[in-house]
Amino acid sequence: MNFFKTKLKYLLAISFVALQFFGQAQTSRKIRFPNLPNYLTLVTDLHQHSVFSDGSVWPDIRVEEAIFDGVDVISLTEHLEYQPHQQDIPNKDRNRSYDLAKAYAEGTDLIVIRGAEITRNLPPGHSNALFIQDANKLIKENAIDAFREAKNQGAFIFWNHPNWIGQNRLGISQLSSLHQQLIDEGLLNGIEVTNENTFAEQALEIANQNNLTIMGTSDVHGLIDWLFDIPGGGHRPVTLVFAKERSEDGVKDALFRGRTVVWYQNNLIGQEQYLVPLIQSSLTMDSVYYETYDGQITQVANVRITNSSDATYVLSNESDFSLYTKQHVFTIDPNTTTTLMIKTGAFLDHFDLQFQVLNATFAYRKHPTITIPVILN
Ligand SMILES: [Zn+2]
Ligand SMILES: [Zn+2]
Repeated sequence: MNFFKTKLKYLLAISFVALQFFGQAQTSRKIRFPNLPNYLTLVTDLHQHSVFSDGSVWPDIRVEEAIFDGVDVISLTEHLEYQPHQQDIPNKDRNRSYDLAKAYAEGTDLIVIRGAEITRNLPPGHSNALFIQDANKLIKENAIDAFREAKNQGAFIFWNHPNWIGQNRLGISQLSSLHQQLIDEGLLNGIEVTNENTFAEQALEIANQNNLTIMGTSDVHGLIDWLFDIPGGGHRPVTLVFAKERSEDGVKDALFRGRTVVWYQNNLIGQEQYLVPLIQSSLTMDSVYYETYDGQITQVANVRITNSSDATYVLSNESDFSLYTKQHVFTIDPNTTTTLMIKTGAFLDHFDLQFQVLNATFAYRKHPTITIPVILN
């Protein structure tokens, strides 16, 4: 007992010291983006695997990883038709992975959604069905029957990795007539523009042309930390979902209405109508005044901008004014306050700063422009 107490004291002391050194790194691991004026921003990763299909971990690890990363919503989307561990894990009930994760997440804020990956050759390739009632009923001979059953269960269905070279040697996403049929029947509602460590530029065009929800997921099979180099400063790709409420229904409503932005390798990808308010909410003006030099007021305005998001913004100055300390392209680091010195050429009581956001994309190689209004007292 005595020994235990001493040991406990020692451990507490070490933890305290460790917190001093690593406290910041530990908290910064959580993915943070601000809410939009009318919506809550929920961080989701809706395509993941466990040992119940071809993943390497038990479902509880997916829950732990999500909590570490500050992810609000996950789905374990096991392959229905690809079961390489079946010798060791017979897995007769394809809901088992969800049931285990859901039970493990009990008492936490994490929302776990029942999902499955309909796993077929191209076309249609692989697709995730979310918000289903019973994964077992999706096992069908004919792929379209699986989609129809998922829809009957109220599913939101998205096309996974349409660029995957495992199925498509060009790596270029192409919409087939079967996909067109699925879209026409309301059996395909979204498309991954990013999957794991790949980006599908053409998938973004397919999403925009067919009104499909823009998705990005980790599709993790091993460990998130290794796949996305979290210790080295990486982040898992996530879909930011703009929901009216923090609930499964809130997420479902937002996905069906296309209210998403993907965060992938520090790039934000989504419709302009969601990208712009997300960036505007991330970058806010903190304070502003005209600089003085030797007691004389100058016409260079000092504007402090706070970035309350995890994205490093890469901005290109589109304003009428040039900057005193920076080139026209510069970065604003995450969760910090940056000072911009603006050469306004006169004393102004207000002016607008305009920036093209180079790490944000809404269509093929197109970047949104944001405006930050500056008002001097
Ligand atoms: Zn897949
Ligand atoms: Zn997958």
